[in-house]
Amino acid sequence: MSAKLLIVWDYDTALGQINSTFPYNFKYDPIYQEIENVEKILIKAKEINIKMTFACVGFAAEKGVMPFNNPDQIRKIHNEGHEIASHSWKHEWFPYLMDKQITKSLERSKYALEECLGLKNSVTGFVPPHSRPMSWYKKFSVSFGDRGFYPLHKGSDMGYVLKQLSALEYKWCRVLKNYKPVWKKFSGSSSEDMNFYKWETHDGIICVPQHYTGFDDFAQKYLEKAVEKNETLVIVGHPAALSRDKSESEIHFNKFMEIVKDKIDKGMLEVYTVTDYIKKYFK
Ligand SMILES: [Zn+2]
Repeated sequence: MSAKLLIVWDYDTALGQINSTFPYNFKYDPIYQEIENVEKILIKAKEINIKMTFACVGFAAEKGVMPFNNPDQIRKIHNEGHEIASHSWKHEWFPYLMDKQITKSLERSKYALEECLGLKNSVTGFVPPHSRPMSWYKKFSVSFGDRGFYPLHKGSDMGYVLKQLSALEYKWCRVLKNYKPVWKKFSGSSSEDMNFYKWETHDGIICVPQHYTGFDDFAQKYLEKAVEKNETLVIVGHPAALSRDKSESEIHFNKFMEIVKDKIDKGMLEVYTVTDYIKKYFK
């Protein structure tokens, strides 16, 4: 037995960065920097021979102009053996979306990415932009930070998004690791715990828990714990954040990858794309 590691990248691309920037501060440099960082990640993955998952904003897969469209790089990521998932069509704030807008985003992103790869049904994963909605009404979990509310804004309910994904033949969706009912929200353990949480399936969609964002000391300890307990760890990163001096910095990433390589060499760890992991272990 060995532990398993899944690394899922939120590849926001130009549209994602435009829709994420707060306060408004549009610049081309970070967009090109993100593209370069993806290249660095691919080199590192090749070096230690691991496959990862890249959730890409669908619009980037369209033919067009750089840096807004970058289908060649998306094909390259796929050709190197990594999984391409959808990170929505244009990095929408899902809790604001109405019924039809959700369908449009999920449908168009899947279509654009699959057209780019030239492979039908190859994009079966979804990573919600901004990690929203954080509300999941069936679990009595409500996040006021979502700012849009059910039933007017159907995109504010994780349960509703999962139903839509199911209808559009997606297979998995990344979710927060711990949806707490409102009455437990302000009590008890911190969000920085090191639990692994049971993977759930809702409406036929496998919910992939997002354990931690970043590669810093905390991520390294989390990985040690996964190895110790033979657990599956899901780490999230943003290529753009490799250039920032936070938990996802390039220095932390390189150090984390050294540890990953060491564990693989010792037979203690296996690294998978989400879909490969599901096919092999999720039944
Ligand atoms: Zn994003």
